Amino acid sequence: SKMDGRGTWRFFEPAMDASLQSRRALETDLRAAMDKNEFDLFYQPIYDLRMDRISGFEALLRWRHPERGLVPPDQFIPVAEEIGLITPLGEWVLNRACAQAASWPNELKIAVNVSATQFRDPRLAAVIANALEVSALPPHRLELEITESVLLGNSAETIATLHELKARGLRIALDDFGTGYSSLSYLRSFPFDKLKIDQSFVRDVTAKKGSKLIVRAITRLGKSLGMTTTAEGVETIEQLNQMKAEGCNEAQGYLFSRPVPATELASTILSLRNG
Ligand code: C2E
Ligand code: CA
Ligand code: CA
Ligand code: CA
Repeated sequence: SKMDGRGTWRFFEPAMDASLQSRRALETDLRAAMDKNEFDLFYQPIYDLRMDRISGFEALLRWRHPERGLVPPDQFIPVAEEIGLITPLGEWVLNRACAQAASWPNELKIAVNVSATQFRDPRLAAVIANALEVSALPPHRLELEITESVLLGNSAETIATLHELKARGLRIALDDFGTGYSSLSYLRSFPFDKLKIDQSFVRDVTAKKGSKLIVRAITRLGKSLGMTTTAEGVETIEQLNQMKAEGCNEAQGYLFSRPVPATELASTILSLRNG
């Protein structure tokens, strides 16, 4: 505690200590989590609306903390980025996702999220090549999801890396499209295969005219640039019908399935096949 200028006691220091301590503890636990085998990948189906079947799965990272329980990625990925852990963690994700996807039916793709920091790592292309080689997964079955933050600065290295990965046969999707510091100019310079329409637009697509018009504009923009579009966070049949009507190619969301552990993939595929 401390005396402030007016002579009253303020107790902000112990509170700050507590949050700092819990943050430090999180960092320590995060550093140990890989060795302790606490990370896992869940998979959420991506549904092809024209073919009326699952086209693949997105890998979503989970951390099973012994005391905190299942920690959501939004709570630990930013920390992993800050303490320099995202590169080894991202490498683990790529290896694991490719290894598991290699055992799936051939037509199913695997989408892996790659953070901005991880993307700027000069070893990324080698890490990906190694993951594909060890797993024997064909490159065209691997899709990388990057966000607009990767493109900030519009650097020549980023463009070169994207071209290199595409030349190897991988697909590149632009995640959370429409949020962040969007600038349409990079859609000319980067060879994306897919735009993932952020769930904030999908959520309001039946209720708000603005969201509907934005969705319409994004699907048309994607189509005219030769990119497919995926609706994220589809929760209701009304949202699905609207996204279909706008010509969206794929959809993903709780309406189809929540992200499931690898052991539940087969039953998820079956239940979606049987309606
Ligand atoms: P994202 O890539 O945009 O992933 C979609 C998020 O929306 C996932 O949250 C998913 O569980 C959730 N979601 C899917 N369908 C619905 C729905 O119908 N309604 C709602 N409300 N949510 C839905 P999750 O798994 O908590 O992941 C959050 C974010 O963490 C991801 O957003 C991604 O940015 C990041 N992330 C997850 N796994 C990885 C990873 O392996 N590496 C990196 N770098 N980031 C990851
Ligand atoms: Ca994603
Ligand atoms: Ca997303
Ligand atoms: Ca997101």
